[in-house]
Amino acid sequence: SLTIGIVGLPNVGKSTLFNALTKNDVLAANYPFATIEPNVGVVGVPDPRLNKLAEIFSSQKLLPATVDFVDIAGIVRGASEGEGLGNKFLANIRESDAICQVIRAFKDENVVHVDGKVSPKDDIETINTELILADLQSVEKAVPRLTKESRLQKEKVAVLAAVEEAQKILEAGDTLFSRGITAGTEKGRLLHELHLLTTKPFLYVFNVDEDELVDEDFKNEQRALVAPAEAIFLNAKIESELIELDDDEALELLQSMGQEEPGLATLGRVGFDTLGLQTYLTAGPKEARAWTIKKGATAPEAAGVIHTDFQKGFIKAEIVSFEDLVETGSVAEARAKGKARMEGKDYVMQDGDVVEFRFNV
Ligand code: GDP
Repeated sequence: SLTIGIVGLPNVGKSTLFNALTKNDVLAANYPFATIEPNVGVVGVPDPRLNKLAEIFSSQKLLPATVDFVDIAGIVRGASEGEGLGNKFLANIRESDAICQVIRAFKDENVVHVDGKVSPKDDIETINTELILADLQSVEKAVPRLTKESRLQKEKVAVLAAVEEAQKILEAGDTLFSRGITAGTEKGRLLHELHLLTTKPFLYVFNVDEDELVDEDFKNEQRALVAPAEAIFLNAKIESELIELDDDEALELLQSMGQEEPGLATLGRVGFDTLGLQTYLTAGPKEARAWTIKKGATAPEAAGVIHTDFQKGFIKAEIVSFEDLVETGSVAEARAKGKARMEGKDYVMQDGDVVEFRFNV
């Protein structure tokens, strides 16, 4: 499955956030390099539609979609030169499908900042510079090779042109993502063989003080710094406290801070979207469940997520949109009202499709 790598300077709250993600008890140490081996933390993607489905179908269980976060050892200035855990860092980040940068905005004189001052803008620049320098190395290595290859292999001409364009962007100090060059684009595909870092989608978690959680001016400033990437604002310490509380207590604490949901829930939702994923829904007395597919997946591909046999033997999918199902109250009633559609193998799944597959075994 797809993963999001969590990166950030030392002491910004990565371990605290990651512990909340895994509900682990690993102590967040106030110490650079505290997190060395990458681990995976799984977070649920909140989906209120599942509760509604569970009501309609009297489902016993709710199974939301999930996102995997990988804790990647702390980056430091010079990582692209192999400083600190640089090489390991770059290898781990190369394996991730998206990059989540944790940025410190919280003020606490007891927590040392590696560069001596709290400045989200400077920290973002430090991290992006390392990623950009690492990509520049890859690009500079590839250009002479591609120049040679493109003399004999026509298909390499376009690759070389894309690489040279990437080089200009990187030399100007920009990430490729910020200039619209990502894995899903034509240029991204041409660059694929270089396994670049900054073509991955980015998302930013600002670890903020409580008052900043509701400070719209402050938040808009940070959003402007990272656009087109998404920005999420949370307080890692409070998140780690929230997971210890029961639902009512957690809700009370959230409301007292002017929040509608835990930051981790937002992170799950935004992370899922950043990866270019979407869900479809199934429901029955056993479970109401959200299944993960890539955006643009067809009905047989969606069936394959449940079981490869469902994809092989796919006949058709009976689909009711979530809205129609809620309105009619049951699949039988939806059928009676002509709201249930039979879709074939070319159907592209839509968000909120409630599905039952028909297949041969
Ligand atoms: P990492 O090096 O990025 O993994 O950072 P840690 O999670 O180990 O956090 C470093 C220190 O900052 C620890 O002492 C944490 O308790 C503290 N810390 C983390 N998040 C917050 C926060 O939101 N507010 C405050 N005041 N301290 C925090």
